[in-house]
Parts: sequence; C-alpha cells; structure tokens
Amino acid sequence: MGRSWFRTRAVSPTLDRIDEPHVHDLLRANIWHMRGRDRDLVVDTGLGVASLRAHLPQLFARDPVVVLTHAHLDHMGGAHEFDCCWAYPGEPFRTPPPGSLYPEPLADELGISAADFGIDGPILLDALPRSDYAPGDYRLQPAPKIEWLSEGMRIDLGDRSFTALHLPGHTPASVGLVDEVHGTLFSGDVVYDDILIDNCVGSHIPDYRITMNRLTELDVSVVHPGHGDSFDRDRLCDIANDYLRRT
Ligand SMILES: [Zn+2]
Repeated sequence: MGRSWFRTRAVSPTLDRIDEPHVHDLLRANIWHMRGRDRDLVVDTGLGVASLRAHLPQLFARDPVVVLTHAHLDHMGGAHEFDCCWAYPGEPFRTPPPGSLYPEPLADELGISAADFGIDGPILLDALPRSDYAPGDYRLQPAPKIEWLSEGMRIDLGDRSFTALHLPGHTPASVGLVDEVHGTLFSGDVVYDDILIDNCVGSHIPDYRITMNRLTELDVSVVHPGHGDSFDRDRLCDIANDYLRRT
C-alpha cells in the first residue's frame, strides 16, 4: 500500500491530530486521538474513503470512546469501522444521505452552492486512496451502533474527563467536548478558524448565535476544531464575536 492516506501529527504526548491531505479543504476534517490513562477518546472519523483500521490501528487498540461531533460525511465517514459511536440525537447517523465526492451532487445534498467548493477539479480529492478506487462508488456508511449523548454527560478517560455540550447552529445535533480542568475544547464544526458554514441543511442562525455566546463564556485555553489548526481562547472569542456581529 505504500504511504498512508492519513497524516498524523502529535499535538502533545497524549494527543494526535489526524487528517487526509488529499481531500479538498472543505472536506478535510480532523480526527482527534487522545490517549487517557484508562481509555482513549477518538473525536470524529474522517471521510471514509480509506480504512481507518488498516491505516491507523492505534485508534482501535484501547476500546476507545468514539464521539461524532455531527453527521456530516467528513466527520462520520469512518464511523462504520467502530463497534460503537456516541453522538447527540437529531441527525441521521443511522441512515445518512449517500454523500458524494463530486461537487455538484454533494452541494445539492448539503444545501449549499457548488461554487462554495471553489473547485479546480472534477472531484473533491487530489489523489486516490488506492489505484483501483472508484470515486463514483463512494457511499457514506451508517454508524452501526450509536449511543446517545446528552447535555452535560461525562466521558471519563481515567486521568481526565470531558463534558458533552450540545452546540447547535452548524447542524442541529452538533456537540463539543470540554475538559474544564485542563481547559480543552473539541469543537467539531461549531467553531474553527475559517469561514463558518451556517447555510447548509439543518443550519440555524439563531441557534448558532446562542452557541457562540455560550462559547465566549467557556473557560478554555485551547480549542481543537473539526478543521484546521488548534487555537487559543482569544481567537475563539474573536471568531465568536465576529460571527455575532455579522449575523
Ligand atoms: Zn459539518
């Protein structure tokens, strides 16, 4: 197989950021792997064009708690490889729409404009995961088993724990995970350091505004987002206040 489809970068001794460099920016989501004393946490599962189990067996080694921040294809594409995933109710984790690696049908499905992809090629990958890979056969797979998160539910890794926050706006069932002791937030697509998407199917700007107000009050020092680099609390507040100003 040669090189891995995935790129893994250590953020700290216990946290890896994994992404898919050959996927178009808008769909190149982060997979976060945090190693706790007793259990691991995996946040999101990538696009699902290459096998997580084949490329990243370490994700599966310690019976991880897998959390899907929402049901978009770039976050739950690999969910079908795990025995069980956690998510907030209200999105089609068990019966997802098929998804696509082509801009037009995907934009249709998401309710956005294909122009938003600013695409310079016919397909949303710039390489194939295998020489025999057929992009037209891409189908987003359902998560075989979902356990439902609720607001305030704790996820305990032994030496640290996270609290689930329901943060609707980008999608109705978006969740974040906050570790109040270490000041860490996994934010999914609720907030990242780029243009935020509040116009897709299921987006709701009034909810997004409430969520942004809530984020500005969180006592966190670092945000690990669904796309792009991590950032600090000042940047979080800038992004949130910016959003509140223009909506
Ligand atoms: Zn999304």
